[in-house]
Amino acid sequence: MRRKPVRTLSGVTTVTVLTKPYPCPAHCIFCPTDVRMPKSYLPDEPGAARAFQNAFDPFRQVESRITSYEAVGHPTDKIELLILGGTWSAYRRDYQEEFVRRCFDAMNGRPADTLDEAHAWNEDSEHRNVGLVVETRPDEINPTELAWLRRLGVTKVQMGVQSLDDAILALNQRGHTTAQAAAAVELLRAAGFKIVLHWMPNLLGATPQSDRADFLRLWEAAKGGLGLCPDEIKIYPTQLLEGTELYRFWERGEYRPYDTETLTRLLADVKPEIPRYCRVNRVIRDIPSTHVVEGNKRTSLRQDVLAELERRGQRCQCIRCREVGAIAVNPEHLELEELRYAAGAAEEVFLSFVTPSDRLAGYLRLSLPHSMRLPADLFADLQGAAIIREVHVYGQSLGVGQAQRGAAQHIGLGTQLLDRAAELARQAGFRRLAVIAAVGTRAYYRARGFDTGDLYMLREL
Ligand code: SF4
Repeated sequence: MRRKPVRTLSGVTTVTVLTKPYPCPAHCIFCPTDVRMPKSYLPDEPGAARAFQNAFDPFRQVESRITSYEAVGHPTDKIELLILGGTWSAYRRDYQEEFVRRCFDAMNGRPADTLDEAHAWNEDSEHRNVGLVVETRPDEINPTELAWLRRLGVTKVQMGVQSLDDAILALNQRGHTTAQAAAAVELLRAAGFKIVLHWMPNLLGATPQSDRADFLRLWEAAKGGLGLCPDEIKIYPTQLLEGTELYRFWERGEYRPYDTETLTRLLADVKPEIPRYCRVNRVIRDIPSTHVVEGNKRTSLRQDVLAELERRGQRCQCIRCREVGAIAVNPEHLELEELRYAAGAAEEVFLSFVTPSDRLAGYLRLSLPHSMRLPADLFADLQGAAIIREVHVYGQSLGVGQAQRGAAQHIGLGTQLLDRAAELARQAGFRRLAVIAAVGTRAYYRARGFDTGDLYMLREL
């Protein structure tokens, strides 16, 4: 029996773990502090409570999560590991390496001596790692850091940009500028990472009107933006929490949170602006409403926003709103859509298979860099390469080798997307194709003509 099918509908099971309590080098005025938690997390947030119970031990966190998924009948053969906790890059590297190795040990069911060994074992493990996500800040991103993240096996980076207005960033003491955020995104893209940005409306100094303009700056220059073009976005409306610096501004009458109606209207205004290549993961952070002093306390805001859009006769086209979900897919009716857009120093191609009713059955992100932005000594694999940053095919997460009628995952959509990407890269003059492969997907790519490089899987064109 599979009790909560929705969690694995995207074909992959997500396991969230938290790093140990640790300070963050930054001092954002809205960010909560609890000494029992890594910076910015509260002990009763989902996921955080579980980490606390397991004393932040990476092995125990992963193992207990896999066990509880198995107990309710979920497949656990494809795992996206989401490592949360303040700023990953602020932790010591020996801690980072040990943390990741122990997560792999839990997936592999046996302890390895080194991270490389744990990675190698995972290639044919019962629980394969198909994605590894960390969260960090724009000012921590540089080529050396990115090469290190690749060594750890990271494939996706979550980063707070929060606002694209330097005055608002300064007021909220973010400690970085818009230019730094844009430069970090450009480097992440050049290194092929999947990019998840956090954006916060209702910061100190913002108004619904300024937030609407700010949101547009995220996207392509053709839309009046700065070309950050995130692959996924988490919209985290500022929540007023006791004990924060922002709380004091509120006490002095210098800050007002938006009420639920204002926030719903604002989000309904910005959502239709989101391009088809982006996934909106969140429109609110999952903080228990008891912590919120004033302002919106509804955590079901996404439904409210969708209802408001329906009332307006509008629709959001983001990936999340178009995912095929549990609907059976007839491969003969799928159309291959090619969406091109300019994102900073690269041309991006979003290849997707869509159903006649515009549901998304799978997609691939191909990055065609205008020039090489990363040093050749650290990123030899990427010289002359077009980069596949993501391949994602939907369908109930199936056991390896199992097939399910109508499920998108096993009708060769991934292979078709890869072949089309190779063709487009060749046409654009690239001599090789690199893919940022999670450790547990190496065998998949090897079977499709890729060889293991230093930090990426490579196919000569
Ligand atoms: S960077 Fe993130 S974790 Fe650090 S203080 Fe700012 S919001 Fe909190």
